Amino acid sequence: MCDISRREFLFSGTAILTLAAEGELLGGPVPAGAAEAATADLIAPDIYFHEGNVADNADAVCNNGWIMFEDYVLVIDANFPAGAKLIIGKIRSLTDKPIRFAFDTHHHGDHAYGNQVFVENGGVPVAHTGVIEEMQRYETGYYGNKPGRWEEAAKGRADLRTTRLKPPSVLFSKDLIFDDGKHRVELMHLGVAHTHGDALAWLPKEKILFTGDVCVNGPYNYVGDGDVGKWIETLEAAKQLGAKIVCTGHGPRSVATVLDDQQAFFKALREQVGSVMAGRPPEEAKTQVELIRATLKGNAQIARFVATAGPDDAFPAQVQKVYQELTGKSLAALERQPRLARQVHARSHGSASASSA
Ligand SMILES: [Zn+2]
Ligand SMILES: [Zn+2]
Repeated sequence: MCDISRREFLFSGTAILTLAAEGELLGGPVPAGAAEAATADLIAPDIYFHEGNVADNADAVCNNGWIMFEDYVLVIDANFPAGAKLIIGKIRSLTDKPIRFAFDTHHHGDHAYGNQVFVENGGVPVAHTGVIEEMQRYETGYYGNKPGRWEEAAKGRADLRTTRLKPPSVLFSKDLIFDDGKHRVELMHLGVAHTHGDALAWLPKEKILFTGDVCVNGPYNYVGDGDVGKWIETLEAAKQLGAKIVCTGHGPRSVATVLDDQQAFFKALREQVGSVMAGRPPEEAKTQVELIRATLKGNAQIARFVATAGPDDAFPAQVQKVYQELTGKSLAALERQPRLARQVHARSHGSASASSA
């Protein structure tokens, strides 16, 4: 398995590579460890996508991307520490260029807790200033107060117990551009969405968009740290970029329609909660959750975003959040749901704890 050729790797992982670019990349010795790298997608020359696994305690939970500039590599999201090591190994099998920057799309653990691993490998974590503000809000242990999310997540992940939180140290308030003439990556904050500090990576030449959790491709939306109403507007701004390939924060790589679908899910959720629940007393409203779920599941465009009832069910928390946004009131009947959703998120996304708001 270890002697997979670079050509096999390219053919197994290439969706869009041009023949000229393929010829360029096929030169040189077969890199050690290329078999492992074969599980990453080369989606355009020098641009890779790696799909994470939201299963409990997976090494790489969130999706990653990386761009090989002429002199260095920029990685999209730091993942968990174990995921960071996995991704660095994959990149090392492809190039000796320094892995100079790790861009945290937001503060959640599955996107930012691997920062320290990148630092130990010569990288610098980069993020929107809102990521620091969110970390100050939720990572209370790091900032000298009571244990926060890191400490909570460390109870369930060994890789967190052997490393430490490393907030990003290169910050931008609106955007930050990497451009060496061949490749251009624009990191940009388009507004509040999944958190108050989300940023996306836009590659205008290739029309590739890495969204972080501003967009996911499956039932992975955690809404507790963001604002669903503003999220819809931020998705509208993301749509205006005109992406052809969309690499979401979780779930399979997709195309522009995933932005439409994600937005349509939130719009439908708000419409349903507004029309079915908002006028009812809180104790009565709870009885409508399954009705709304069934209605949304019946819409083919958005059905894949609607969680199924069960232990990892984030749907009631999504309903509760929207109800709160629309009415200004907490839905007493679902009061435990945000807490349950945070526990699910802490397990699968490693970013939230039951003890922090
Ligand atoms: Zn995530
Ligand atoms: Zn997240």
